[in-house]
Amino acid sequence: MGPVRAALLQKELGIYFFRDLLDHFPFRHIDKTIIQKIGSITSETDFIQISGVISHCEIIGEKASRRLLAHISDGSGYLELVWFRGIQWVQKNLMIGKKYLIYGKVTYFNKHPQISHPDYEIIDSSVSDKFIFEPIYPSTEKLKTRNLNGRQIAKLTSAILKQINENDLPENIPIQVLKPLNLVGRYKAYNDIHFPKTMDEFKEASRRLKFEEFFLAQIRFKMMRNRRHHKSQGVLFEKVGDLFNTFYSTCLPFELTNAQKKVVKEIRQDTNSGRQMNRLLQGDVGSGKTIVALLTLLLAVDNGFQGCIMAPTEILAQQHFNSIQNLLKNLPLNIHLLTGSTKTAERKKILHELKEGLCHIIVGTHAIIEDQVEFKNLGIAIVDEQHRFGVAQRAKLWKKSPISPHILVMTATPIPRTLAMSVYGDLDVSIMDELPPGRQEIKTIQRNEMRRMEVMEFIKSEIKKGRQAYIVYPLIEESEKLSYEDLMQGYEQVKTYFPEHLYYISMVHGKMPALQKEVNMQRFKKGECQILVGTTVIEVGVDVPNASVIVIESAEKFGLSQLHQLRGRVGRGNHKSYCILLTGSKLSHEARQRLKILCDTNNGFKIAEADLALRGPGNIEGTRQSGALDFKLADIILDQSILEAAKRYADIVLDVDPSLEKMENAGLKNYILALKGKTAWSKIS
Ligand code: ADP
Ligand code: MG
Repeated sequence: MGPVRAALLQKELGIYFFRDLLDHFPFRHIDKTIIQKIGSITSETDFIQISGVISHCEIIGEKASRRLLAHISDGSGYLELVWFRGIQWVQKNLMIGKKYLIYGKVTYFNKHPQISHPDYEIIDSSVSDKFIFEPIYPSTEKLKTRNLNGRQIAKLTSAILKQINENDLPENIPIQVLKPLNLVGRYKAYNDIHFPKTMDEFKEASRRLKFEEFFLAQIRFKMMRNRRHHKSQGVLFEKVGDLFNTFYSTCLPFELTNAQKKVVKEIRQDTNSGRQMNRLLQGDVGSGKTIVALLTLLLAVDNGFQGCIMAPTEILAQQHFNSIQNLLKNLPLNIHLLTGSTKTAERKKILHELKEGLCHIIVGTHAIIEDQVEFKNLGIAIVDEQHRFGVAQRAKLWKKSPISPHILVMTATPIPRTLAMSVYGDLDVSIMDELPPGRQEIKTIQRNEMRRMEVMEFIKSEIKKGRQAYIVYPLIEESEKLSYEDLMQGYEQVKTYFPEHLYYISMVHGKMPALQKEVNMQRFKKGECQILVGTTVIEVGVDVPNASVIVIESAEKFGLSQLHQLRGRVGRGNHKSYCILLTGSKLSHEARQRLKILCDTNNGFKIAEADLALRGPGNIEGTRQSGALDFKLADIILDQSILEAAKRYADIVLDVDPSLEKMENAGLKNYILALKGKTAWSKIS
């Protein structure tokens, strides 16, 4: 290949080395033995392969509709082939009167079938008959116009495979894993995934290579975790001291659930082990993560260390600060709040106290991890609602202390198990799958917004019973500059249903000054108003047990996990609670599915799985940048069973031979050593 095409291959597909080309997998194979007749095409026809003679070829149309049109016929009829780009080049190359093999997707234009930008190949040589199943590769328009369409890529790949042997693709999965799983060898797998002789061969090759991807990832995760467990020194919380004990026996407003007790015990063990804790706490909305965080902070202070808890938004930080201060008011502790809007003088004082060790617990937003913030001896850092917390930001925390502090990451919504396994594979995971006693299922229903009146009447009946209600509008990320019209209009509308002399209504939104927000929120919390109209700023953390209804306007505009979070604002007390999703009448299929899932279940773990299946892993917040989902072949949803097997076998291999010293693991070890530095695994904390 000449330098021009090579450069194009690099630029367009990131293919630099032979290795990359071998890893450029086909997305499908065409069975070359199946050539259909043009006359058999119907409106049902999808992808098709035909062969015929090109009879006509000309450029037609003006400007945007300028295109190259060719006719191909096989005796049973003729088909139009159309090109919109690379017109000149194709025209120069297409030979009238020659027989071609054509592959592509049939569409109808002016009632006549056509294929636009087909794969085409002249039938002249032996090449096309070599494989029964011809691989079709992802390509790009640019490449296609430079004679590097899917078929040409196949030729290159085939040429490479002919030049290499088993030594060039050494086995990297130990034989004791290959055997029981009946996996084909690596060299064979590469040959078969590109050029299988049967479809079964293809399937086996693909199973093997998917397993390899998962297996290597799991091995590396587990080695990282082992290393941390064995080598990394952790801050030692030796004792359970007075603060913890006093709080536990006299200030705790309720009995902990068994799930909470279990997690506190796990944290206690981690922090008393001499190793650094890196734990992910997964608990559904309302499962009581805050109190677990608080107990963990007390453990740190009891042992002479400082602790911090970080939240993604100012309002949530403020909430945490209020509730933590309130719960700890009888203990001799110095607690501060540090956010972006902390005044300079106050900030200066806090920074000083942190550095001198006078401040025990700091609650805040990212403001905490700024470089100027220094601790005397940070022992634990807790990150709440981590979906919104950049991975890099978390890494900054580690450096705040000579010995990396313990890290506890709490998620707002459960992460699907497969995702957790692949993204947070090196974290220890705690799960709280139990809600505090006395909670009732929240009843969730969807209503067309035409029936808003009915819904408002329902709110009235709940208010009559002494309850309170939220009405939420899909607006304004805190930082975003958007108009408030919707919210304001909504607010006015709500006031027409709930006249001011009979009802009290409060409002919160992201652009209000923090103090105002807080005042309005507190009014609602204290029961001084019955309705809180707001944006999604109330999404996380807001805790008003007397609220029994939440109405979500334009619910179709929210994501599943966000809706679940919002719903979690009600059902926090003993009252039967309701979540009403108001929607427009034109809903996409996906939106309909999303809302149905929400109406069907209250279980955050199930919702997370459904969300993942619906939107795919790349769209789940916080995962894209992690790089851990960059599997070429494997798919964490579709190949879940392979992922599980990979994890199981990675455990088996490393339990027996933690540093891969044994002969039978040499191939694996060499492979992993060679990979080092190529992937930024440090990004995944
Ligand atoms: P989340 O896990 O969503 O952060 P919170 O920590 O905000 O949940 O707790 C939700 C509500 O449940 C709060 O009102 C909290 O006081 C209450 N709560 C937490 N643990 C218990 C418990 N063991 N028994 C009763 N109520 C609890
Ligand atoms: Mg919370």
